[in-house]
Amino acid sequence: MHGTMQDWPLLVWKLIDHAAIYHPTREIVSLSCEGPKHRTNWATVRGRARQVAGALRRLGMQPEDRIATLAWNTWRHVESWYGISGMGGVAHTINPRLFEEQITYIANHAEDRVLFFDLTFVKLVEKLAPQFKTIEHYVLLTDRAHMPAETSLNLLCYEDLLAAESVDEPWAEVPETAPAGLCYTSGTTGHPKGVQYSHRSNVLHAMAACATDVFAMGARTVVLPIAPMYHANAWSIPYTAACAGAKLVMNGPNFDPPTLHKLIVEEDVDLALAVPTIWLGMMQHLEKTGETLGKLNRTAIGGSAVPRAMIETYDKLGVRVLQLWGMTEMSPLGTVGTGVPETDAMPYGDQLNIRVKQGRGLFGVEMKIVDDDGKELPRDGKAFGRLLVRGPWIVGSYFKGDGASAFEGGWFDTGDVATLDPLGYMQIVDRAKDVIKSGGEWVSSIDLENVAVGAPGVAEACVIGVHHPKWDERPLLLVVPKDGATVTKESVLAYLDGRIAKWWTPDDVLVVPSLPHTATGKLLKTALRDQYRDYKLPTA
Ligand code: ADP
Repeated sequence: MHGTMQDWPLLVWKLIDHAAIYHPTREIVSLSCEGPKHRTNWATVRGRARQVAGALRRLGMQPEDRIATLAWNTWRHVESWYGISGMGGVAHTINPRLFEEQITYIANHAEDRVLFFDLTFVKLVEKLAPQFKTIEHYVLLTDRAHMPAETSLNLLCYEDLLAAESVDEPWAEVPETAPAGLCYTSGTTGHPKGVQYSHRSNVLHAMAACATDVFAMGARTVVLPIAPMYHANAWSIPYTAACAGAKLVMNGPNFDPPTLHKLIVEEDVDLALAVPTIWLGMMQHLEKTGETLGKLNRTAIGGSAVPRAMIETYDKLGVRVLQLWGMTEMSPLGTVGTGVPETDAMPYGDQLNIRVKQGRGLFGVEMKIVDDDGKELPRDGKAFGRLLVRGPWIVGSYFKGDGASAFEGGWFDTGDVATLDPLGYMQIVDRAKDVIKSGGEWVSSIDLENVAVGAPGVAEACVIGVHHPKWDERPLLLVVPKDGATVTKESVLAYLDGRIAKWWTPDDVLVVPSLPHTATGKLLKTALRDQYRDYKLPTA
């Protein structure tokens, strides 16, 4: 027996149809790759997305074909996204910050048939095209006036393609379990692996993300996803904003603090989302200029741990930091650090102790921590173990069956080591591969970094384990000073004294001009571990 309700498949094009019907004039504002600021709205973008669907059909694309994008966050990228999945295709967002070999690997692995790309990437695509084995059409996301005069590619012009199609092109009526998007993890170890989102998983995730204790998004929200669409779907914002009828603001190819700041103030952005590095840059910019952030009252920060000092600084500016934890494999939302009545009642210092945690699971995300034998550990905020997750927007297997070892008994192993506390907050102790094993005990590199980044004059901190003859591994701390600041080993160690357990004290502190980052803005610890493999600690 079934319930007697209608079967209304959860398809991503229904999100943009909703936005176009109920919020037609709500704006989508982008900094374009051509230069000027561009304004459009949900109704227009929906019509143009249907034109993209028509253009793809005319090029011979079939449902389930992978169509790639190599593009920044702009209205054209949003249209392409909805147009691709709206004709039944799979929108494969490629991260342009990956190594060139990785880009070629994933385009070939996905068997992409068309590539939509921005003006920024013409040279890159010209260089890689001979190695792309399956791409039949190259579509440049621009108008006729900006098409390059000379190029080795057989280029199609996006605006010309759209002009030939109807804004009433029908959407594809596919099952809700059909694939809609594809995103590869950044693959710091081994080849990148593909996560293939379904229509259903994306729609459920968008609905969940709008909720009050998640992003609290509605028609009055003005949202700026600085997180790129190629990094775990810009944390779902192009879907969520359509679902909520929010105004969507996008920074195109610009990530420098002055440009982001100007956009936030000019467009009355009240919610912006980005990795900690971006907010770190913004903090330094505000410190230098004395400016404030206009109407911005919330920042959602995730991808790496959010340092306590960052939460405090933005609190003083009237901007509430919502820490997020998630993964490409989780569409990406797993936890959000919004408060509950129990935390509201705490003194500020205690609240901060909770807010540095990664957050509580939202409805739709089940979590548990287990020991090495797979035995579930208590949710007491102390026991830590491998964090396993399951839910309707969490990966069930990687594309083409890669990485099977990450799945056990219907749960996905996140590769994170975490605690769960009685209030439901999850805290990451470390990436399993980054923990420092010192004399049989664990040192959390994340905890150490969080404290170290609060030291006077320190802009960024990174801790890695380095071989030690007696303890096996000991922490080495690398710090980058803020512009013009003087930082020494002694000044940092003096700051850490009393703030961390004595035996966690790094065996050495190196002041470095910069630190390497991954294609998604995380500290590239594999590279640092290689670089300091033979480093001799003064304590050794
Ligand atoms: P990548 O492709 O770079 O691996 P993901 O964003 O999918 O990109 O990476 C997910 C991982 O990022 C998580 O498993 C976790 O280790 C880390 N991460 C994400 N958010 C946080 C956070 N708020 N605090 C600490 N680590 C985080």
